[in-house]
Amino acid sequence: MDLMIQGLEKSFNRVQALHTTNLNIKQGRFTTLLGPSGCGKTTLLRMIAGLETPDQGELRLGDDILFSSAKRIDRPTHRRNFGMVFQDFALWPHMTVFENIAFGLRASGKTKELKRVVQEAVDMVRLQGLEQRYPHQLSGGQQQRVAFARAVVMKPQLVLFDEPLSALDAMLRDEMRIELTGLVRDIGLTALYVTHDQVEAMSMSDEIVVMKAGQILQKGTPEQIYNTPQHPFIAQFIGKSNWLVKDKLLIRPEQIQWVRNGSADAYRGKVQSVSYLGDRYEIQLDMGSLGLWTAYDRERKPTGEEVEMYISREDIHEITD
Ligand code: ADP
Ligand code: MG
Repeated sequence: MDLMIQGLEKSFNRVQALHTTNLNIKQGRFTTLLGPSGCGKTTLLRMIAGLETPDQGELRLGDDILFSSAKRIDRPTHRRNFGMVFQDFALWPHMTVFENIAFGLRASGKTKELKRVVQEAVDMVRLQGLEQRYPHQLSGGQQQRVAFARAVVMKPQLVLFDEPLSALDAMLRDEMRIELTGLVRDIGLTALYVTHDQVEAMSMSDEIVVMKAGQILQKGTPEQIYNTPQHPFIAQFIGKSNWLVKDKLLIRPEQIQWVRNGSADAYRGKVQSVSYLGDRYEIQLDMGSLGLWTAYDRERKPTGEEVEMYISREDIHEITD
């Protein structure tokens, strides 16, 4: 069943954290709310979880109403059957791995075959042998796995993730990104994931919902968001952007082709700086009245060199916002 968000709004002391919002979260998909800090991602997630009361609107799972301001329905968190994974993991420090994972099952009286169900979750996140450890005896990645196992052991209809990887160091974060996406897909979970990190959003999601200042700007696949952003903010926020006309005609760096003695419609610029990225060079170009552009090349270009470029018409994306 899809989660349907209709006309949802929330203010804190006259600060509108979330403007009127409509959104469908599709069952079995990995959907990500992506936007800069303070844009209302956590507020939206907490309202879905039942941890924050909306001012207006309706939340439904299929036909099942979880919240409705008009009908005065507000189902408490523990009866929404959603799993939650937070940035700080929020594990119980005085409980073992086993007891942390078993906690929700015990609290809701689902103690039938408890040992087997918890053990399956432990195996799934590869924590065999660590069942009797306490959270402080685990690495960050292991704690994250416990938090994940605890969230999914109840077989939730939806799992909510709020920046779950941001407390981990860069290398572990890359690893956990792949691991987490794999687990979510293997179990066939419906995931709603919050992050401000565009790389996380692009690499993990089936669908990305881009937010800014309490509003949804665009929803689409990672490819749609990158190739056809509907708002200049999205083009800037995700990947690098060059503008042919300010905020209107977008060219991505990888679409710039180098030419020599190009035709009259070739673009001309001067190499301003070069940075080595390992697999290629990132080149800043002084384009005169067009400002600074970013381009890529497999070879180093000397600074100050005059260069010519060709850009295919179909690679120029018009933003009609
Ligand atoms: P994000 O998760 O995208 O960083 P938040 O949802 O946490 O953004 O916050 C959105 C806006 O609402 C921010 O301006 C924030 O300061 C404000 N806000 C969030 N929670 C509260 C609260 N409990 N009281 C007052 N203001 C809040
Ligand atoms: Mg947040």
